[in-house]
Amino acid sequence: MKKLPKEKVKPFVEKLLQDYEVLGPMETAGFASFGRIMSPGELKLNYQNSKKTPKEAFFPQWEVMFRYRSTGQSVEVKSAEDTGRRRILFGIRPCDIRAALLLDLVFDSLDFKDPYYINKRKGTIVVGLGCNHPASTCFCTSVNGGPFSREGADFFMTDLGDGYLVEVLSQKGRKLLRGFDGKEASEEDKERAKAIADSATRGISSVIEADGLMEKLEKLTEAPFWDFLHEKCLGCGICTYLCPTCHCFDMADEAFDLKGQRVRCWDSCLFPLFTLETSGHNPRPTGRERIRQRIMHKFNYFFYTHKAIACVGCGRCIIHCPVNLDIRRVIDDIHRE
Ligand code: SF4
Ligand code: SF4
Repeated sequence: MKKLPKEKVKPFVEKLLQDYEVLGPMETAGFASFGRIMSPGELKLNYQNSKKTPKEAFFPQWEVMFRYRSTGQSVEVKSAEDTGRRRILFGIRPCDIRAALLLDLVFDSLDFKDPYYINKRKGTIVVGLGCNHPASTCFCTSVNGGPFSREGADFFMTDLGDGYLVEVLSQKGRKLLRGFDGKEASEEDKERAKAIADSATRGISSVIEADGLMEKLEKLTEAPFWDFLHEKCLGCGICTYLCPTCHCFDMADEAFDLKGQRVRCWDSCLFPLFTLETSGHNPRPTGRERIRQRIMHKFNYFFYTHKAIACVGCGRCIIHCPVNLDIRRVIDDIHRE
């Protein structure tokens, strides 16, 4: 464990920028979101939870998969796979790291490997930042996480006020010590970090009852519960776009004349067109089936396939839903059914 005084953060990040592409929390249009930083001054490390999630680092909202061109006799295809970039995801919160671990189960499974995701993920060093002040909407401790969980981080930082306690957690993380000008952490620093982590964990006031949820949902597929739940939902898709674990996408060809490109972009199970078939038939014709899908996928189907709940308790869908549809209330109601 080392300590990086606050005045040495800037030179540390400057060194990292010489060797890596650095993505970190920054202020965009009045809110925190993750983006590529070009200078240490752009980093905003005292954020609570970014509005847009860092999942875009591995699974962008829109990306080109390959480009093609017809020569008249044949078609040339050129992959747009993102290979060989050395990147750092700096200052990511533990809930968002956990979300990346859940996305790994989808995009890097035994059955299915997505090179677009995997190449970006493998080339990225993850620098976690503990959450000293969780928001009132955070419930990470109910879903196997915590404001100071190190799971999935290569390098982890705790804000001590006058500096950061730094922990190297993997070989990838060790590489960052080359640009590090800190000192060994004292026993007092370590005790202070522990006290901060304990206090933050105790400060999580929101909970959901995850135990038994999967079994409960199993019995509720055709329950009248969904008839009422969906009435409030506008189907705007904000909750899915801002959710760090949502990963549905669409693909399309953008072509003109003899050349074009295949792109993929985020989609949402709450949109009517999501399951519309060419015949005109839609297996999820109303909001009832669509919101049921969102809840079932997160808390039942995903668990069934991957033995994990596809929610990390970040609270974004609670904060940003325009009609205050609160997933904590929904889970409570499901248990009461
Ligand atoms: S953000 Fe709220 S209103 Fe919009 S789709 Fe999600 S639950 Fe429905
Ligand atoms: S469902 Fe809501 S609380 Fe859970 S991970 Fe997604 S945005 Fe966060």
